[in-house]
Amino acid sequence: MKRIVIVMAMGAEAAPVLERLGAVARASPPSLSFGWYVAERSGCEVVVAVNGRDPRHGVDKIGTQPAALNTYLALEQHRPDLVITAGTAGGWARAGGRIGDVYLSETHFVYHDRRIAIPGYESYGVGSYPAVRADALARVLGLRQGIVTTGNSLDETDDDRRMIAASGASVKDMEGAAVAWVAELLDVPILAVKAITDLVDAHADTVAQFEANLAMASDRLCEALVAVIDWCAPRSVDDLGGLS
Ligand code: SAH
Repeated sequence: MKRIVIVMAMGAEAAPVLERLGAVARASPPSLSFGWYVAERSGCEVVVAVNGRDPRHGVDKIGTQPAALNTYLALEQHRPDLVITAGTAGGWARAGGRIGDVYLSETHFVYHDRRIAIPGYESYGVGSYPAVRADALARVLGLRQGIVTTGNSLDETDDDRRMIAASGASVKDMEGAAVAWVAELLDVPILAVKAITDLVDAHADTVAQFEANLAMASDRLCEALVAVIDWCAPRSVDDLGGLS
């Protein structure tokens, strides 16, 4: 692979990997306040596209709209061999999830908060955006795999819970499906790399878990991303799946 684009939502998630890669800032589209960085690693150009801060609210632009815009512009401009949606995520103890685990995507991405009970629109709302096959990569690096489910809230409502049970997802974030939608439109293979900050079905409060584990999970994420890049750089996208 000659080029990989990594899309990330939060500055704190991106900081360790930007430092490790020695990435330098690159011009990004004006007025959108994205942070684009570039590095060379294992003979591969790595572009890290961070969603940046919201100028009105002064916080990171988490969620689907900034992720989709950032992904679209970064993919159009850089035309990578692979796009990675990387960040933190919620997991479930009932699915065997543990804080600090790193997951790769599996089969496809879905939404859990787009409920449209009009005939034909129901499955459009849930979505089903293909993830690149990554069984070989997961096996070699010892990472878990799970379906990524995306919504624009940090919490989980009863309706979300029902949707998530139906999809069988085990990784909950606020960007993955949006990045995957754009990747499918532009025909770029997509992989998720997500480190678990919180367990959705734990008794502890999600925000408290997230804040306590963000730095540790971002370090784990950094380790996994570097390993993924090193493995992918001398290979083709088909190699991620291994022999079928
Ligand atoms: N209060 C936090 C907000 C972070 S929102 C702050 O310090 O700013 C959570 C971010 O991490 C999102 O980008 C999302 O993709 C991911 N995430 C982590 N745990 C999540 C969960 N349980 N549900 C949804 N997204 C989660």
